[in-house]
Amino acid sequence: MKITRITAYRVELPLVEGDYKWSGGKGVTTFDSTVVVVDTDEGLQGFGEVCPLGPFYLPAYGDGVRTGLAELGPHLIGCDPTAVLPLNDWMDRCLKGHPYVKSGIDMACWDLWGKATGLPVASLLGGVYTESVPLYRAISQEEPEKMAAKVAGYRSEGYRRFQLKVGGDPDMDILRIRQVREILEPGDVLVADANTGWLRHQALRVAGAVADLDVYIEQPCLTYEECLGVREHTTLPFVLDECVDGVNPLLRAISERAMDVVNLKISKLGGLTRLKLARDLCVAHGIAMTIEDSWGGDIITSAIAHLAQSTPPQNLFSCTDFNSYVTRRNALGAPRRQEGRLSILPRPGLGVEPAWDELGDPMVDIVAG
Ligand code: MG
Repeated sequence: MKITRITAYRVELPLVEGDYKWSGGKGVTTFDSTVVVVDTDEGLQGFGEVCPLGPFYLPAYGDGVRTGLAELGPHLIGCDPTAVLPLNDWMDRCLKGHPYVKSGIDMACWDLWGKATGLPVASLLGGVYTESVPLYRAISQEEPEKMAAKVAGYRSEGYRRFQLKVGGDPDMDILRIRQVREILEPGDVLVADANTGWLRHQALRVAGAVADLDVYIEQPCLTYEECLGVREHTTLPFVLDECVDGVNPLLRAISERAMDVVNLKISKLGGLTRLKLARDLCVAHGIAMTIEDSWGGDIITSAIAHLAQSTPPQNLFSCTDFNSYVTRRNALGAPRRQEGRLSILPRPGLGVEPAWDELGDPMVDIVAG
């Protein structure tokens, strides 16, 4: 099978809640998602998606996805999309860095591999462990009372795992964590995600003030070294996210016992191929994972479900159903959450078909010849 055409479409994804806010006054009201379509000489089409969390979360942005695809795409015409390891090596030779640009292509190639073999992507990733996987709900940064009310609302919808956006004023963050934990039941999971928003002294004050609670601390500071400095002085379970942006940082963090849980995001690592490598390393070292992406719609939600269901349940901390946060569907057939859990449908590939009416004209169109 050979790639004959690559097209990319821009789809705006407004939020059900109107906006999504996190540390440092950052926020997004409408997500800029790119749907990637890979055509082949055998008539099969593969679908992928890339959706940065605005331009100021990771070194990635919506127009950057499309610009990168226009640069990289011509090199991929004629490549075998089902040979995902050689294809990823080739993408790295043609465009240094920019893993998020490659993520949508890689996702579409796994979709094609599944369609070519008649297997769900989860089977290609190693096989399905469980019927469904647990979701977490991210709670946008607000006043403590509002965040507690939102947690109560989402808990009534079936979620049992919550990620609070903190990383603001440390005293306010202590109240946020305390008020939310108070309304949760034993067994419910609470993560306080600072999204790099604290300096070390602030992180240590917060961690000390909530040390009596059942709560995880996530990515308190900007750099790995700062986070490690906090980690060494708290007994609370520790999550790393932004600073683990590849396999080498992951290996360092594992060897230095810098975290108990890591958040693996598809586009942060550059696609399913690289996420699978990171996932399997985490399994081998007893690290739990949240499997997700920076953001996304239906195609990314489906990819997350396939990755999560092929991950050993004891290592899967949680995953995300981004398609329930946004008001527009960019594909049909994606899994939808039920009682705070997600499960794939037994179809070849990712099991989704783009909602073509929502896509408009392609922003990138690279054709053989
Ligand atoms: Mg995070």
